Amino acid sequence: MKMRYVYLIAPILVIFLLLGAYWLVKTNDRPIPKFEPPEDPLATWSPEEYYRHLQMKPINGKRVHNLLIQRTRQKPGVYLESLLPAMDSAGLKVIHVYHVVVGDDYTPVITSGNDYPYHARNSKHYFNAAIDFRIVDVPMKLRKQIVESCTERLGPRFRVLWERGAKEHLHVELIEP
Ligand SMILES: [Zn+2]
Repeated sequence: MKMRYVYLIAPILVIFLLLGAYWLVKTNDRPIPKFEPPEDPLATWSPEEYYRHLQMKPINGKRVHNLLIQRTRQKPGVYLESLLPAMDSAGLKVIHVYHVVVGDDYTPVITSGNDYPYHARNSKHYFNAAIDFRIVDVPMKLRKQIVESCTERLGPRFRVLWERGAKEHLHVELIEP
């Protein structure tokens, strides 16, 4: 009597196998849940990016700064990222003076911003209020003219120094930041 139903085992096993296969296919069909990171930019910023973000300037100031970078070459290692906006504008005036005196083809070189560790300790360089321009590649007879024109163009808010000697350069600083 019991053995009468043995033949049913095979079809039942087949049904279970089919159900199992169906279940596996459905499981794989389910979309992988998407992970949406919370809207917190700081969570994904590198320390450097965040630091730059803190130093962000108004749009127009940023444009002036970019112009200064585009119209000059910078000695490797020169840091100008946090330069005061007044210095960005002053820098553009200095560039113009170079162009007038030396020629439009000349590209001024900035040799220092807030970077070089050998300025005097209270130097304006460390307050993002001074930049140095290369002047040794300008013919000697034109250097004085550059210094005088810069002094005149920048006015009393700025100090223009023609540093002589082994490390001759043009130093421009904001007197009252
Ligand atoms: Zn300097």
